[in-house]
Amino acid sequence: MKTDYQTRIVKARDAIQNADFILIGGGAGLSDAAGLKYTGKRFTDNFGQFIEKYGFEDLYTSSFYPFETQEERWAYWAKHIAVNRYDPPATDLYKKLFQLARDKDHFVLTTNVEYQFHKAGFADENVFMVQGNYGYFQCEKGCHQKVYDNEEQVKTMIAHTRDCRIPTFLIPKCPVCGGEMDAYVHHSRYFVRDEHWDNADKRYQAFLKRSKKKRIVYLELGVGFNTPGIIRYPFEQLTYQNGNATLIRINRDYPHGKKENTDRTIAFAEDMSEIMSQIIPDSGGQKPVSINKVMEVRHMKGYYAPKSAQGYMNTEAAYSAMSGSACGAGDEKPEEKPSACGSSCGAGDEQPKPSACGAGDGK
Ligand SMILES: [Zn+2]
Repeated sequence: MKTDYQTRIVKARDAIQNADFILIGGGAGLSDAAGLKYTGKRFTDNFGQFIEKYGFEDLYTSSFYPFETQEERWAYWAKHIAVNRYDPPATDLYKKLFQLARDKDHFVLTTNVEYQFHKAGFADENVFMVQGNYGYFQCEKGCHQKVYDNEEQVKTMIAHTRDCRIPTFLIPKCPVCGGEMDAYVHHSRYFVRDEHWDNADKRYQAFLKRSKKKRIVYLELGVGFNTPGIIRYPFEQLTYQNGNATLIRINRDYPHGKKENTDRTIAFAEDMSEIMSQIIPDSGGQKPVSINKVMEVRHMKGYYAPKSAQGYMNTEAAYSAMSGSACGAGDEKPEEKPSACGSSCGAGDEQPKPSACGAGDGK
């Protein structure tokens, strides 16, 4: 695989150059590669007091913590949201993606909830954030299908946090049922699909329709097996159905897919940022980096969803409803079932799901 790296780079660049459509699928591995790490310095710098008090080890597992009080819960979540949604500017990797896609008819399907695609320049009408958006709250029980911008509240909570608690009067409450609120991320069956979500889903379907059988690149980035039914399996299926399609899969852990698509799949396990720099068409003819250089890049150790968090969505119904012809996902990681597509998530997903949806995808 190493030896043909430059061949794959050239093939990927050509495929993008020759495509009329690009569908980007962004999973947790994309944000991780972009620098939005859930471990290490970014975590310890921002959560020192929480680490001391609760023994947290990273931003992912800490999001499962069963806080005893709402005051503590929201002190943590305000910080979690700010660190991922409000503090970071557009990262270079997401900006490269925009550079790559902007001159094509393009669309983004993502399980990431940090709003990086928007920050990087993608128009809202071209992005479907399937698993929610850190910038909003919803009723914890989903009693009504509406979400609420949380920027002011989050910043106020952080400003008033003392000893890992916010004051009681700042605890957000549902304006309809009076119950608790929740971050707008898909971690329970109460996830809200508001009008904006529905419209994004419709635009995605419209994109699929107009790009059907056309020259298209499915660019899948850091999508693993936490919720493979949203991006990974559909992309394989779409590739299988379209002889003019190319699937470019960049995945540190699981680059390989269906063998039926082998001749139309270009798979990479190498460093995502490096690859992106190389495959952007007309990027000034940058010289491909050497294999040795690429292999020197040390990958940040990813973290994975605990078993209990996997398969939290019911999936079979969703998957079969998702698109017409099944693509049996035969030669993929066998023990995982595809998970729910946005438009038809099933029941039985009571298990707490971390905010950074799709986190097992290598985040
Ligand atoms: Zn409510």
